[in-house]
Amino acid sequence: MTPKQIAERLKMVESACICKGCPTYKNLEREDDYISYCFPTRGASKNITEEKGCTCGICPIYGQMKFMNTYYCTRGIEMKQKEAIAEAAWNGHSVWDHLRRRR
Ligand code: SF4
Ligand code: SF4
Repeated sequence: MTPKQIAERLKMVESACICKGCPTYKNLEREDDYISYCFPTRGASKNITEEKGCTCGICPIYGQMKFMNTYYCTRGIEMKQKEAIAEAAWNGHSVWDHLRRRR
C-alpha cells in the first residue's frame, strides 16, 4: 500500500468507526487524541486505561476485516492481540499480562 492509499483507507475507517459512542471511550470523559484504534498506524490509546465495554463487534469495519478480538484501544491492533494469544499460550501466562508486558 502506498502512503496515499493508507491515508485514504484510514479516512474511510474513521468515518465508519463507532468508538466515540462506546462506554470505554465515554469513560475517558474527553476527546481522545485519535480513534480507529484497530488501524495498524494507530493502535492502542495513550489515554484510555479502563475497559468499560467494547462496541467494535457491531462496527462495519469489524465485519469487513473479519476481526475476532476487541478493545483495540487498550490491547492493541488485531494482529498484536493474535500474536499475544499465541505467545501467552506457549508461555503459560495470561494474555492480558502478556499484552501489558509488551507495551
Ligand atoms: S472496529 Fe472498533 S476501533 Fe475499529 S473502526 Fe470499528 S469501532 Fe473503531
Ligand atoms: S476499541 Fe472498543 S472499547 Fe475501545 S473505544 Fe473503540 S469500541 Fe470502545
